[in-house]
Amino acid sequence: MHELGICDALLKMLRNVAEEEQLQNVQSITVEVGTLSGVVPRFLSDCWQAVIDGTEFAAVDMIVETVEGEAQCIECGERFVADLERLRCPSCGGNKLTPVSGTDLTLKEILEAN
Ligand SMILES: [Zn+2]
Repeated sequence: MHELGICDALLKMLRNVAEEEQLQNVQSITVEVGTLSGVVPRFLSDCWQAVIDGTEFAAVDMIVETVEGEAQCIECGERFVADLERLRCPSCGGNKLTPVSGTDLTLKEILEAN
């Protein structure tokens, strides 16, 4: 599963950062997910719970923020906020689209408890 691999990678990243910056008590991580990344936020949180179970980060919450993706129509050049459910150009109705933004997933913040 796609999301499981991502969570695995996020846990490795978190472990590296925590080591480098000597974080003692990580409370949560914030992940930014583009709507065109193909990642389902709900699956991502579920996988996170599974991946951190039994590790030193078992209590770390994952906060998922969604970023709207933009696409551009190859036919007419129109740029618009794309919805994966309905991938059509609002201007000409064409379906030859190229993603402009919102295809990434990034670890935005690691928050430490006080
Ligand atoms: Zn178009």
